[in-house]
Amino acid sequence: MKIFQIERNSDCPCGSGRKYKRCCQGRVDDATRRISQAVGVGSFTAEGLEVIETLGFLCGLQAEGGHMPAPERLGQLLQEAWDEEDEIQYNQDEGALSALSMAFQVLLGEKHQLRSIRIPVWQFELEFGQEYESEDEEIELIKEIIDYLVGPGGREFMTEALKCTGMSLLYDDYTDGELKTLLAALGWLVVDDTRDLFLFSVLYKTRSDLMVAAQKVTEIMEKYGEDDQEELYQEMRSILFNYPVYDQMLSDKADDDINFVMEAVANDELNLDVSLFSVLQGIYVMISKAAESSEALLSSEDPPTGTLKALAPMEEVLFPGGEYRFFFPEVLGCLDRELRETDNSELRDSLNEFLFFLILLSDTKQIAIIKYLHVRCICAYLGRLPVFLPEADLEFKVPADYCDQNIIEKYACYLGSRDMTEEAVYVRNAFETLGEQAQQEAFLYEDEVIDFARLLLEEDEEEE
Ligand SMILES: [Zn+2]
Repeated sequence: MKIFQIERNSDCPCGSGRKYKRCCQGRVDDATRRISQAVGVGSFTAEGLEVIETLGFLCGLQAEGGHMPAPERLGQLLQEAWDEEDEIQYNQDEGALSALSMAFQVLLGEKHQLRSIRIPVWQFELEFGQEYESEDEEIELIKEIIDYLVGPGGREFMTEALKCTGMSLLYDDYTDGELKTLLAALGWLVVDDTRDLFLFSVLYKTRSDLMVAAQKVTEIMEKYGEDDQEELYQEMRSILFNYPVYDQMLSDKADDDINFVMEAVANDELNLDVSLFSVLQGIYVMISKAAESSEALLSSEDPPTGTLKALAPMEEVLFPGGEYRFFFPEVLGCLDRELRETDNSELRDSLNEFLFFLILLSDTKQIAIIKYLHVRCICAYLGRLPVFLPEADLEFKVPADYCDQNIIEKYACYLGSRDMTEEAVYVRNAFETLGEQAQQEAFLYEDEVIDFARLLLEEDEEEE
């Protein structure tokens, strides 16, 4: 199967935004020519040519940094790998073949860029380590997965696997022996008749990763009690980092619990009363942008795009602006409190999984959720006025009160009196950099600010 079907006029796959013929094609053609010369022109089959072309492609794409092995070295080693495979085939040497597969599985674990080449077996209802009714059942499931991935359904997996191989050639270090193993495996992947060899190797590596990671997690859970959560999290993070497939599995499996909690948030069944300081920059930005944001939201023909556009400024303060550092612990604290207080056991279980997901797993889903919670907490401060902070003896009746220097200074003093020095500094800074400027808009667009915040809060409730 020809894996990279790139037309001369298509966008270059290196991501430069230029046309292939004006970008990487020259380098790809050159690498391909040099590899086939090193292999020995005329000494390879049509299938061999596919492998060479794929390799030339991986070599020729423009990349930043890294150290791609020279095409001559790759061609030479490819030739050696093929000679060895011919011998295995000629002697029908099953032992040598499985040794080669084992050597490839070692690479899949040791080379950093190859760690993402795994098969999400749980998506095929396969659970390793689980007791199946008969011994054959697991084998049957494995066969089904392989059959599926050998066919058209496996195209995405193949493209990803090739990309990772290219990245690994570029950034990981290889001895000649290791490279030869990798090239043999690349050949398995590219050629239709041998693709199952590649898939079996990856599947067995996936299985061992999932089982080892689960075992390690059990050990850690037993080692640490309730009191040393920090150490526990640290060790957990290192396991998830070393076994990304386990991370991905946990994240996928948390989906139902995440949806359940997010629904509860949208319906106001969970109390997310984060402290004011943890969303103060966001409040200022929402006030400053409310007029144009609600316009963007209302005038957009496509509501989700409109919402995204309207919310973009809030993201700016969350990550680049550093509000995340204050917001994240606050929101975790609220969820944790809810977890302890709720009588609803379903919600409790889901919250448990949700917190685990937020704290430990590294996923883009996680970032999207934090952004969403941030906006929601900002809206609560602006859409549900008046807001009382009895402990600080403060009241916010209108949006402009958040931009009132006296009130904010009083709030900062209150934080200071509670030994929350960092928070007090953060509040004063937020006021100086954003709050003061937002004052005028807070007066001019008071209704728009409140309506916009309410609109966002209600929009979620309607969706459910
Ligand atoms: Zn390019």
